[in-house]
Amino acid sequence: MSKRFLFKILTVGDGSVGKTTLLQRYIGGFFEANPHMTIGVNFYLKRLFLNSVDVTLQLWDFGGQARFRFLLKKYVGGASGAFLLYDLSNPSTLESAEEWVDLVRMENKSLPILLVGTKYDLIDLEKIDDKESNIVMAKFRMIANIKTSSKTGLNIEDIFEILVKELLNRQKSKNY
Ligand code: GDP
Ligand code: MG
Repeated sequence: MSKRFLFKILTVGDGSVGKTTLLQRYIGGFFEANPHMTIGVNFYLKRLFLNSVDVTLQLWDFGGQARFRFLLKKYVGGASGAFLLYDLSNPSTLESAEEWVDLVRMENKSLPILLVGTKYDLIDLEKIDDKESNIVMAKFRMIANIKTSSKTGLNIEDIFEILVKELLNRQKSKNY
């Protein structure tokens, strides 16, 4: 019988960067133009098979509003990885990356983090400059820096696949 894995994944980033929309797009396959504001945390389950490995993801959606942030510390324990989102159409959302990194790595200093630039459909291709986000990725040794759109679906499946592959690789190196 093949092995089964359960991974707890945190989804963080400033309010309105698109966390809830991204998780709903991934899980439900639809774009939500008017998501409710996330109060505190929610979580969703998603099962997938990657190279015939059976993986269940427990996806935690962290409310981005500063006034809820004190709540989040309680929920980072036991996480296997995290998505840190910033809004490509609102570059100031990248500035709080360090705060989010500190939060999700509170218990595990080497927690794998994937940096996600959201709302790719809203920006002009010529205006994209990956320099700043690549600096953030390198500074915090994140596993990738990927642009997505929950509206078009661009790279949504891919970011989950990349993170899960990384987590499975880390499991292997632990076991052998
Ligand atoms: P959260 O606070 O990080 O959970 O952000 P939400 O998921 O609530 O999204 C905030 C707003 O951005 C909503 O109006 C979404 O419809 C919109 N949004 C999220 N992702 C995208 C995207 O990829 N493209 C576009 N055009 N809008 C998006
Ligand atoms: Mg939300």
